[in-house]
Amino acid sequence: MKKKVLFLYLLGLAATYAQEQRFQGQPPIAAVPTKTRAVQKQWKGNFKFARNGITFSNDFVGSRLNGIVQNNDSTYTVLITPENTPINTSPWYAFKVWANNRTQVNVVLTYQESGKHRYFPKLSKDGVNWSLLDSTRYKEYDKGERAFGPGSLPVKVNMKLEIGTDTLWVSGQELHTSHHVSRWVEDLSTKPFITKKKIGKSRENRDLGLLAIGDENARNMLMVISRQHPPEVTGYLAMKTFVETIASDTKLAKNFRKKFTTYVVPLMNPDGVDNGHWRHNAGGVDLNRDWANFNQPETRSVKNFMEGKVKQTKGKFYFGIDFHSTWDDIYYTVDSKLEGNMPGLVTDWLSEVKAELEGYDPNIRPSDKMRPTNVSRNYFFVEHGAEALVFEIGDNTPRDFVKKKARVSAQILMQLMLKRIK
Ligand SMILES: [Zn+2]
Repeated sequence: MKKKVLFLYLLGLAATYAQEQRFQGQPPIAAVPTKTRAVQKQWKGNFKFARNGITFSNDFVGSRLNGIVQNNDSTYTVLITPENTPINTSPWYAFKVWANNRTQVNVVLTYQESGKHRYFPKLSKDGVNWSLLDSTRYKEYDKGERAFGPGSLPVKVNMKLEIGTDTLWVSGQELHTSHHVSRWVEDLSTKPFITKKKIGKSRENRDLGLLAIGDENARNMLMVISRQHPPEVTGYLAMKTFVETIASDTKLAKNFRKKFTTYVVPLMNPDGVDNGHWRHNAGGVDLNRDWANFNQPETRSVKNFMEGKVKQTKGKFYFGIDFHSTWDDIYYTVDSKLEGNMPGLVTDWLSEVKAELEGYDPNIRPSDKMRPTNVSRNYFFVEHGAEALVFEIGDNTPRDFVKKKARVSAQILMQLMLKRIK
């Protein structure tokens, strides 16, 4: 008996110290055409099942539900399709459901061909406050063997939902549409040192909003963007806290704003977000492949803005950051042997962030292939000399940690940049 206990103890220790499987990052980015392509529009309305008194709806901004059939009295199968193909496995879904009487339904989410289920269901009663579906009410089918990526995903899932006369919202991640982003922007821009402006229009004529934090004539500049890819909500949440920290009332932030102005485009792809796209803009294109050719209005607007600012102020961008989400937290940096306007900044920054967050070991994947500049990071670095990176948050990273990491990251970045500027 004692031997067995010791054995189990050692087994436990081995498990504790075993090298955890780690996300190896994306393979090198291939150039893809970014000329406008057709996208499939989603039929919008209510899907009513009168016999059972149950209604599903995709009639709201940010929704995605492409079809639904009733299998039996309590089971419904939903089809989720992308805006066009080929496309990454980031199948967004969001719908509402309600019933005449309190009841329980099984909702099976299915996808086409290589599409698989990725985002763990979030539930809400008001579209604002979200919680995770109870895991005992969630079942995955034909799950892949791999630890990360599409090969790790199930082919379909079943959710057991309690529904009634009140609307239940079901979504792949918390809903943050252009309306939510505008509200956040409105709120922040009540501060006297923040102005909001429009730097362009999306393909479907939505405004591309920008926040200027600090003096708009300042010569020392930072560029912050997020949400080129609609479902990447955790990256967006990190961006929010990062920006709020730079806009805060701390002494550090005040000093920082005296020396540097931060420009923020929080929602790069408003059409994609509001249409519930998996990845592309309304031109059917992955915007983060369009920073060399600038075929799309969203990327072109940021390019024109940044180049206009450099001309106007005769200054430069020292730092550029693009927030995304992926399988796990990761930083795609520029190889430290390539020097921009503040050499060593990103390396020092990430090592100080690591030191500050106990138990956190950042996953850093540098690249020295900066041309062509298909992605925003390369454009920021090559055309502006901005020390640049992609800041990726895992789909399932706990939201408290997302905030904490973003706050600490912004604080340390401000300290380091202040030390380095004359
Ligand atoms: Zn992305």
